[in-house]
Amino acid sequence: MSSAHHRGIGMTSMRTRNRLIDRLSEEGIKNQGVLEVMRGTPRHIFVEEALASRAYEDTALPIGLGQTISQPYIVARMTELLLEDGPLKNVLEVGTGSGYQTAVLAQMVGRVYSVERIEPLLQQARGRLREMGLKNIRMKLSDGGMGLPEYAPYDGILVTAAPAGIPLALVEQLRVGGRLVLPVGSAREQVLVKVVKTEDGYDKEILEQVVFVPLLGGVQR
Ligand code: SAM
Repeated sequence: MSSAHHRGIGMTSMRTRNRLIDRLSEEGIKNQGVLEVMRGTPRHIFVEEALASRAYEDTALPIGLGQTISQPYIVARMTELLLEDGPLKNVLEVGTGSGYQTAVLAQMVGRVYSVERIEPLLQQARGRLREMGLKNIRMKLSDGGMGLPEYAPYDGILVTAAPAGIPLALVEQLRVGGRLVLPVGSAREQVLVKVVKTEDGYDKEILEQVVFVPLLGGVQR
Protein backbone atom coordinates (compact mmCIF):
# COMPACT_ATOMS: atom_id res chain seq x y z
CA MET A 1 0.00 0.00 0.00
CA SER A 2 1.52 3.32 -1.01
CA SER A 3 1.96 6.20 1.37
CA ALA A 4 0.10 8.37 -1.18
CA HIS A 5 -2.83 6.04 -0.63
CA HIS A 6 -2.65 6.68 3.11
CA ARG A 7 -2.24 10.42 2.65
CA GLY A 8 -4.99 10.75 0.05
CA ILE A 9 -7.48 8.96 2.23
CA GLY A 10 -6.19 10.82 5.28
CA MET A 11 -7.20 14.15 3.74
CA THR A 12 -10.86 13.22 3.69
CA SER A 13 -11.11 10.55 6.29
CA MET A 14 -11.62 12.59 9.43
CA ARG A 15 -14.73 14.23 8.03
CA THR A 16 -16.10 11.01 6.59
CA ARG A 17 -15.19 9.10 9.76
CA ASN A 18 -17.00 11.65 11.89
CA ARG A 19 -20.04 11.33 9.65
CA LEU A 20 -19.99 7.56 10.09
CA ILE A 21 -19.73 7.84 13.87
CA ASP A 22 -22.64 10.31 13.97
CA ARG A 23 -24.67 7.86 11.95
CA LEU A 24 -23.85 4.92 14.25
CA SER A 25 -24.92 6.97 17.20
CA GLU A 26 -28.19 7.92 15.44
CA GLU A 27 -28.74 4.23 14.75
CA GLY A 28 -28.65 3.56 18.49
CA ILE A 29 -25.03 2.73 19.39
CA LYS A 30 -24.62 4.08 22.92
CA ASN A 31 -21.22 2.87 24.10
CA GLN A 32 -19.00 5.95 23.73
CA GLY A 33 -15.87 3.82 24.04
CA VAL A 34 -16.92 1.77 21.00
CA LEU A 35 -17.73 4.93 19.01
CA GLU A 36 -14.39 6.54 19.84
CA VAL A 37 -12.38 3.41 19.01
CA MET A 38 -14.21 3.15 15.68
CA ARG A 39 -13.59 6.84 14.96
CA GLY A 40 -9.88 6.20 15.41
CA THR A 41 -9.68 2.89 13.51
CA PRO A 42 -8.65 3.28 9.84
CA ARG A 43 -11.25 1.04 8.14
CA HIS A 44 -9.81 1.98 4.73
CA ILE A 45 -6.71 -0.15 5.35
CA PHE A 46 -8.95 -3.22 5.79
CA VAL A 47 -10.43 -3.05 2.28
CA GLU A 48 -8.87 -3.22 -1.17
CA GLU A 49 -7.45 0.06 -2.43
CA ALA A 50 -10.18 0.31 -5.09
CA LEU A 51 -12.85 0.36 -2.38
CA ALA A 52 -10.99 2.60 0.08
CA SER A 53 -13.08 5.65 -0.79
CA ARG A 54 -16.17 3.75 0.40
CA ALA A 55 -14.61 2.51 3.62
CA TYR A 56 -16.50 4.96 5.85
CA GLU A 57 -19.92 4.17 4.40
CA ASP A 58 -22.09 2.17 6.77
CA THR A 59 -22.07 -0.86 4.52
CA ALA A 60 -20.49 -4.29 4.20
CA LEU A 61 -17.93 -4.49 1.37
CA PRO A 62 -16.36 -7.45 -0.47
CA ILE A 63 -12.89 -8.55 0.70
CA GLY A 64 -12.39 -11.31 -1.86
CA LEU A 65 -12.80 -15.09 -1.69
CA GLY A 66 -16.56 -14.63 -1.36
CA GLN A 67 -16.25 -12.90 2.02
CA THR A 68 -17.12 -9.44 3.33
CA ILE A 69 -15.95 -6.87 5.84
CA SER A 70 -18.93 -6.42 8.18
CA GLN A 71 -21.07 -3.29 8.14
CA PRO A 72 -19.75 -0.77 10.72
CA TYR A 73 -23.14 -0.70 12.49
CA ILE A 74 -22.93 -4.46 13.06
CA VAL A 75 -19.32 -4.26 14.29
CA ALA A 76 -20.35 -1.53 16.74
CA ARG A 77 -23.49 -3.36 17.87
CA MET A 78 -21.74 -6.70 18.47
CA THR A 79 -18.86 -5.03 20.32
CA GLU A 80 -21.30 -3.06 22.45
CA LEU A 81 -23.25 -6.22 23.33
CA LEU A 82 -20.08 -8.09 24.20
CA LEU A 83 -18.95 -5.30 26.55
CA GLU A 84 -22.37 -4.61 28.10
CA ASP A 85 -21.42 -5.95 31.54
CA GLY A 86 -18.02 -4.26 31.76
CA PRO A 87 -14.44 -4.89 30.72
CA LEU A 88 -13.31 -8.25 29.35
CA LYS A 89 -9.87 -9.83 29.66
CA ASN A 90 -9.88 -12.39 26.90
CA VAL A 91 -12.12 -12.68 23.88
CA LEU A 92 -12.31 -15.22 21.09
CA GLU A 93 -13.37 -13.99 17.66
CA VAL A 94 -14.48 -16.58 15.11
CA GLY A 95 -14.11 -15.29 11.52
CA THR A 96 -11.24 -12.77 11.31
CA GLY A 97 -12.16 -11.76 7.74
CA SER A 98 -10.47 -8.43 7.02
CA GLY A 99 -9.35 -8.04 10.66
CA TYR A 100 -11.36 -4.85 11.17
CA GLN A 101 -13.55 -6.22 13.97
CA THR A 102 -10.40 -7.73 15.49
CA ALA A 103 -8.75 -4.29 15.52
CA VAL A 104 -11.77 -2.71 17.23
CA LEU A 105 -11.92 -5.48 19.83
CA ALA A 106 -8.18 -5.41 20.51
CA GLN A 107 -8.43 -1.75 21.52
CA MET A 108 -11.19 -2.52 24.02
CA VAL A 109 -10.30 -5.82 25.73
CA GLY A 110 -7.20 -7.38 27.25
CA ARG A 111 -6.43 -9.97 24.61
CA VAL A 112 -8.09 -11.18 21.40
CA TYR A 113 -7.75 -14.65 19.94
CA SER A 114 -9.03 -14.64 16.37
CA VAL A 115 -9.52 -17.64 14.11
CA GLU A 116 -10.18 -17.67 10.36
CA ARG A 117 -10.64 -20.67 8.03
CA ILE A 118 -9.32 -19.01 4.82
CA GLU A 119 -5.53 -18.68 4.91
CA PRO A 120 -5.02 -15.72 2.49
CA LEU A 121 -7.55 -13.65 4.44
CA LEU A 122 -5.83 -14.47 7.72
CA GLN A 123 -2.44 -13.47 6.32
CA GLN A 124 -3.72 -10.17 4.98
CA ALA A 125 -5.44 -9.39 8.26
CA ARG A 126 -2.27 -10.21 10.17
CA GLY A 127 -0.31 -7.68 8.08
CA ARG A 128 -2.89 -4.94 8.63
CA LEU A 129 -3.08 -5.49 12.39
CA ARG A 130 0.69 -5.41 12.57
CA GLU A 131 0.65 -2.15 10.59
CA MET A 132 -1.69 -0.73 13.24
CA GLY A 133 0.78 -1.78 15.93
CA LEU A 134 -1.73 -3.91 17.84
CA LYS A 135 0.13 -6.47 19.93
CA ASN A 136 -2.55 -8.15 22.05
CA ILE A 137 -3.87 -10.37 19.25
CA ARG A 138 -3.22 -14.05 18.54
CA MET A 139 -4.41 -15.38 15.22
CA LYS A 140 -4.85 -18.92 14.00
CA LEU A 141 -5.89 -20.67 10.79
CA SER A 142 -8.61 -22.96 12.04
CA ASP A 143 -12.25 -23.98 11.86
CA GLY A 144 -13.72 -21.82 14.59
CA GLY A 145 -16.97 -23.77 14.79
CA MET A 146 -15.16 -25.87 17.38
CA GLY A 147 -13.84 -22.77 19.14
CA LEU A 148 -10.23 -22.58 20.29
CA PRO A 149 -10.09 -24.77 23.40
CA GLU A 150 -6.39 -24.20 24.14
CA TYR A 151 -6.99 -20.67 25.48
CA ALA A 152 -10.46 -21.24 27.04
CA PRO A 153 -12.32 -20.19 29.13
CA TYR A 154 -13.11 -16.87 27.47
CA ASP A 155 -14.91 -13.86 28.96
CA GLY A 156 -16.53 -13.30 25.59
CA ILE A 157 -16.85 -14.92 22.15
CA LEU A 158 -17.90 -13.04 19.03
CA VAL A 159 -18.78 -14.93 15.84
CA THR A 160 -18.88 -13.09 12.52
CA ALA A 161 -20.33 -15.86 10.31
CA ALA A 162 -23.68 -17.55 10.83
CA PRO A 163 -24.14 -21.15 12.02
CA ALA A 164 -27.60 -22.77 11.76
CA GLY A 165 -27.78 -23.10 15.55
CA ILE A 166 -25.78 -22.13 18.64
CA PRO A 167 -22.53 -24.17 18.59
CA LEU A 168 -22.31 -25.86 22.00
CA ALA A 169 -18.51 -26.09 21.78
CA LEU A 170 -18.46 -22.28 21.93
CA VAL A 171 -20.77 -22.11 24.95
CA GLU A 172 -18.56 -24.67 26.70
CA GLN A 173 -15.50 -22.47 26.17
CA LEU A 174 -17.06 -19.49 27.99
CA ARG A 175 -16.54 -18.90 31.70
CA VAL A 176 -19.75 -18.76 33.75
CA GLY A 177 -21.16 -15.25 33.21
CA GLY A 178 -19.26 -14.98 29.91
CA ARG A 179 -21.14 -14.03 26.78
CA LEU A 180 -21.36 -15.19 23.19
CA VAL A 181 -22.64 -12.81 20.51
CA LEU A 182 -23.40 -14.36 17.13
CA PRO A 183 -25.73 -14.46 14.11
CA VAL A 184 -27.82 -17.65 13.93
CA GLY A 185 -29.95 -18.90 11.05
CA SER A 186 -30.08 -20.01 7.43
CA ALA A 187 -28.13 -18.50 4.54
CA ARG A 188 -31.01 -16.09 3.92
CA GLU A 189 -32.37 -15.19 7.31
CA GLN A 190 -30.52 -14.76 10.54
CA VAL A 191 -30.99 -13.14 13.93
CA LEU A 192 -28.38 -11.67 16.21
CA VAL A 193 -28.29 -13.68 19.44
CA LYS A 194 -26.69 -12.99 22.81
CA VAL A 195 -25.97 -16.03 24.96
CA VAL A 196 -24.85 -15.75 28.58
CA LYS A 197 -23.38 -18.87 30.18
CA THR A 198 -24.93 -19.84 33.53
CA GLU A 199 -23.94 -22.45 36.15
CA ASP A 200 -26.26 -25.02 34.60
CA GLY A 201 -26.59 -24.00 30.94
CA TYR A 202 -27.16 -20.68 29.21
CA ASP A 203 -29.64 -17.83 28.77
CA LYS A 204 -30.39 -16.64 25.27
CA GLU A 205 -31.73 -13.35 23.95
CA ILE A 206 -32.70 -12.72 20.32
CA LEU A 207 -31.95 -9.14 19.30
CA GLU A 208 -32.45 -8.19 15.67
CA GLN A 209 -32.35 -9.45 12.10
CA VAL A 210 -28.95 -9.51 10.44
CA VAL A 211 -27.25 -10.78 7.26
CA PHE A 212 -23.94 -12.66 7.49
CA VAL A 213 -22.03 -15.16 5.39
CA PRO A 214 -22.49 -18.74 6.64
CA LEU A 215 -20.14 -20.38 9.16
CA LEU A 216 -18.46 -23.11 7.10
CA GLY A 217 -16.44 -26.14 8.17
CA GLY A 218 -12.80 -26.98 7.43
CA VAL A 219 -9.82 -24.89 6.41
CA GLN A 220 -9.07 -23.39 2.93
CA ARG A 221 -5.42 -22.77 1.99
N1 SAM B 1 -15.60 -9.23 11.18
C1 SAM B 1 -15.04 -9.45 9.89
C2 SAM B 1 -14.62 -8.15 9.26
O1 SAM B 1 -15.10 -7.11 9.69
O2 SAM B 1 -13.87 -8.21 8.29
C3 SAM B 1 -16.07 -10.07 9.01
C4 SAM B 1 -15.78 -11.37 8.61
S1 SAM B 1 -16.78 -12.15 7.40
C5 SAM B 1 -18.39 -11.51 7.55
C6 SAM B 1 -16.86 -13.74 8.14
C7 SAM B 1 -15.58 -14.51 8.14
O3 SAM B 1 -15.79 -15.74 8.82
C8 SAM B 1 -15.07 -14.88 6.76
O4 SAM B 1 -13.77 -14.41 6.59
C9 SAM B 1 -15.13 -16.40 6.74
O5 SAM B 1 -14.09 -17.00 6.00
C10 SAM B 1 -15.00 -16.72 8.21
N2 SAM B 1 -15.49 -18.04 8.60
C11 SAM B 1 -16.58 -18.72 8.15
N3 SAM B 1 -16.68 -19.90 8.77
C12 SAM B 1 -15.62 -19.99 9.64
C13 SAM B 1 -15.17 -20.97 10.54
N4 SAM B 1 -15.81 -22.13 10.72
N5 SAM B 1 -14.05 -20.72 11.26
C14 SAM B 1 -13.37 -19.56 11.10
N6 SAM B 1 -13.75 -18.59 10.25
C15 SAM B 1 -14.87 -18.80 9.53
